[in-house]
Amino acid sequence: DQAPVITIDGPSGSGKGTISRLLAEKLGWHLLDSGAIYRVLAVASLHHNFGPQDEESLVALATDLDVKFIANEESGLTHVVLEGEDVTMAIRTQEVANQASKVAALPRVREALLRRQRAFRELPGLVADGRDMGTVVFKDAKAKIFLTASAEERARRRFNQLQEKGLDANMQALVTEIRERDERDTNRSAAPLKPAEGSLMLDSTSMPIEAVLDTVLQYAHTQL
Ligand code: C5P
Repeated sequence: DQAPVITIDGPSGSGKGTISRLLAEKLGWHLLDSGAIYRVLAVASLHHNFGPQDEESLVALATDLDVKFIANEESGLTHVVLEGEDVTMAIRTQEVANQASKVAALPRVREALLRRQRAFRELPGLVADGRDMGTVVFKDAKAKIFLTASAEERARRRFNQLQEKGLDANMQALVTEIRERDERDTNRSAAPLKPAEGSLMLDSTSMPIEAVLDTVLQYAHTQL
């Protein structure tokens, strides 16, 4: 039998990254941060100077992408390694996020990354974080969650995250950037950002993380 999957989809800054990590820890399950894969592809494409219109080159790059996720037990951090180079920090910039959402709009690029994402499905189970985890990649997931928050709240969270990491941040630019990326992710024809059928819908705008985690855990237990 296949390992059970819980999917958590939603826009950036909705809290799905944090919730997915905490949920996976709580359950002792594996974690897939699918956005990190798109971000790594974006970094690789920027290295090679491939634009979003270079579909052929991007598909080849996605197919052969040499990326490893290495959990550091001590720090609790997952290091992202591209062709032997640690890109854990490099993939978190706004430039990379924008490029990621552009390459992610290409259907054949998404197709090329499917098997890689599904390989994360291992016992005892997987928590999968992304945009299309419940609608495309793990359609048969036992529990599906769609997490949202207002654009302003998401920009605020992103701002704090970037500052904590010592990266430059501008609140106004972040709101604009988040709206643009939402637009692109929601309106693309390939695997657009939308709730999977039967998802638990959660708006985390004024919910503390602990409350979101509690709700998600309770829901997951009723589905598994
Ligand atoms: O989640 P994160 O912000 O890291 O994702 C970066 C970009 O990758 C998103 O804006 C989206 O365009 C793309 N993505 C996607 N499908 C996923 C995960 C991320 O298209 N499952």
